[in-house]
Amino acid sequence: MTYFFETYGCQMNVAESAALKAVLAERGWSAAPDGEAADLVLINTCAVRRTAEERALGRLAQLLALKKKRAARGRFLTVVAAGCMAQRMGEELKERGADYVMGTAARSVFPLILEQAERSAVSGSSLELSPLPVENPVFAFASSHLEEGNLRSFIPIMHGCNNFCSYCIVPYVRGREVSRDPAAIMREIRLLGEHGVREITLLGQNVNTYRWEGDDGGRLNFPGLLRMAAAAVEKTPIKWVRFLSANPKDFSRETIQVMAEHPVFCRHLHLCVQHGSNDVLKAMNRRYTREQYLELTEEIRKALPGISLSTDILVGFPGETEEDLEQTLDLMNRVRFLYSYMYHFNPREGTAACSLPNRIDEGLKRRRLGRVIALQKVHTLELLRERIGSRALALVEGISRKNADELVARTERDEMAVFPGKASRIGSFAEVTLASLRGNTFRAAEVPPKEC
Ligand code: SF4
Repeated sequence: MTYFFETYGCQMNVAESAALKAVLAERGWSAAPDGEAADLVLINTCAVRRTAEERALGRLAQLLALKKKRAARGRFLTVVAAGCMAQRMGEELKERGADYVMGTAARSVFPLILEQAERSAVSGSSLELSPLPVENPVFAFASSHLEEGNLRSFIPIMHGCNNFCSYCIVPYVRGREVSRDPAAIMREIRLLGEHGVREITLLGQNVNTYRWEGDDGGRLNFPGLLRMAAAAVEKTPIKWVRFLSANPKDFSRETIQVMAEHPVFCRHLHLCVQHGSNDVLKAMNRRYTREQYLELTEEIRKALPGISLSTDILVGFPGETEEDLEQTLDLMNRVRFLYSYMYHFNPREGTAACSLPNRIDEGLKRRRLGRVIALQKVHTLELLRERIGSRALALVEGISRKNADELVARTERDEMAVFPGKASRIGSFAEVTLASLRGNTFRAAEVPPKEC
């Protein structure tokens, strides 16, 4: 039996797809190169933007057409819609023809889906499909999110979000925050280390509010979890730990201190700012000010010299003025992000911002976004140029697509570098000198190991 996955959206979906693939592997299923060759196709969907949903709906329609074609040849294809859009649209996706709709909290029904898919593949018909148990699902973390052969892996530590930023659908589809048992997180760290993983990313919608209360009444917060993770990776070949997403309003000084104490935490942070104007931040319900954000980044840079910062920027929010945009450009000039994910506001039904007045004209939104992108390009290039001549430790991830004699590596600051080397180095760490730039990728040279 074979499967094919398409995963849309955020890293949480990537991690959850990996966990589902592990269930398939345990049952003896193997990956197919495309939907045509598969017995089961799963699309793991995203609901954050309408465009992402439209894309997933388009793909679903294509897969359903493929299912019909296959049925005419007597071969059954099971189509599963999973993830945030499945959670949000549920029945509608079933009406469109998906065999199963599995919301974010309903992963426990996946083995039942597989059982039925196996029977349908044998009989060549959907007659074997029976309704999944109706339940009020409670989110449960998978025990492993390992994708065999990967050097980098996500480890979900939380699920859901309590923040209700006014433009965001996530709290409605993923529900309130649930933290994962730290013992399970440490077990997964050890498991990933045993399977050749070199870098992990602790994942959640808002990792800084991680909270765990043990049966003995002991409490653990996010910095406490980081300390535990630092101790756990010491006994494994994992050398680097990252975390995502960090929310500025909950980013504690203790977290900065733990990062400074443990070099295992990469000197790169993705710290979503979204906007540089206090009025817009307030309308977004982000619950921090530009001043607090700037102060936080200064403290981070002071405690962790050389750290690179990246962010998300959302322009064209309802009511945004030219002055608000200037404030964003000014904040970018002050912080100088290595890179940013930049997008313009698109109303999302079901969120508070959807009904806000003073929408910005589409053309103006695009022009403003263009200004933000242009400034980011300048900063990226400046920051990369400043690094030429310096040394960096990099994880060798693979062979360059452009030159088979070159290796591709990523530094702990999240910069890409290529340098001459052999495939046997993949999975190892190399110290390199960053020599020049090709686009946003460094051409580098490996520093020969010191002889005694
Ligand atoms: S912190 Fe805000 S933007 Fe992020 S998932 Fe929660 S509500 Fe959405």
